[in-house]
Amino acid sequence: MPVLRLEADSPERTQIGEGLVRFAVQAGRLETGREEGRYFLQHADGCAEDGKQIRPGDPFAFDTDTGEIRCLDHVETAESAASEGE
Ligand SMILES: [Zn+2]
Repeated sequence: MPVLRLEADSPERTQIGEGLVRFAVQAGRLETGREEGRYFLQHADGCAEDGKQIRPGDPFAFDTDTGEIRCLDHVETAESAASEGE
């Protein structure tokens, strides 16, 4: 699964399930130990293309190969790049 689509909880982080933990670790984006939940994906750096922060409730893409986050405007960039690599 190269590119995952998630919905942002906040501009800084989004709660993820256990299945995504290893991708978050690979990307250096895992955050734990918060009261609201067990595992979170950090994305305060925003979109890899334009640096735009992901707004709460907005979908965004998490590229598990590169560890990059992309906003909705650049989700397709990530997906086309991923499919070209296959
Ligand atoms: Zn973007």
